[in-house]
Amino acid sequence: MILAEQFKALTAQIHTYQAQLVAVSKFQTIEKIEALYALGQRDFGENYVQELVTKYEYFKAKPEFQDIRWHFIGHLQRNKVKYIAPFVAMIHGVDSFKLLVEINKEAEKNAVTIPCLMQIFIATEESKFGMDATEAIEFMSYYQAQKEQLQHITLAGVMGMASFSNNESLVRSEFQKLISIKHMLKSSYMLAHPNFKEVSMGMSADYEWALAEGSTLVRIGSMLFGAR
Ligand SMILES: *Cc1c(COP(=O)(O)O)cnc(C)c1O
Repeated sequence: MILAEQFKALTAQIHTYQAQLVAVSKFQTIEKIEALYALGQRDFGENYVQELVTKYEYFKAKPEFQDIRWHFIGHLQRNKVKYIAPFVAMIHGVDSFKLLVEINKEAEKNAVTIPCLMQIFIATEESKFGMDATEAIEFMSYYQAQKEQLQHITLAGVMGMASFSNNESLVRSEFQKLISIKHMLKSSYMLAHPNFKEVSMGMSADYEWALAEGSTLVRIGSMLFGAR
């Protein structure tokens, strides 16, 4: 578990870049989440719906933890959106327009608006989820056409995962690709859309490169909590 001074230095570094920290707490204990909360952390990220709901309900019952913001950063199935829509602060991994429509529907039922990030495939590995540039353009044109019916989501930016590699130039070029896709989408479709501003990229192993390339949200887990 990270020490208080190290945590302070890390968040100061992140804020230097005008970015924010999402503490990735998947598979981590309640006690460790509480310890990080005590150091001032409020944004936490989870990958699995059931685990997120269990943790959300635990903290909801405790008056001192009401200001935690839960981010969903995993692969989301449409039939599970309903479980997190009542409380989720942001959904990072939106990889299809159908999923966006489902999130909007469940958000409307709960009278909330959910910020969503488009997940873009930037890695060289086959296993990572996300849309390629062509799919992202198609997604955006559907969104443009149906915006009026999608009042319960905001399209807040993009998210991506670089290759699992210590090759700095490879990883940085993947982050640059995400930034350029974001610019392309913004200039093609979102001219008057101030919400489309987030770039969620960077994990424990590569967050410094991600910050240098323009990340606004770094998702860090093992560096904060220890190995899962
Ligand atoms: C697990 C996970 C992270 C955090 O990874 P660490 O290497 O532990 O920092 C970030 N983003 C996503 C999408 C993840 O699944």
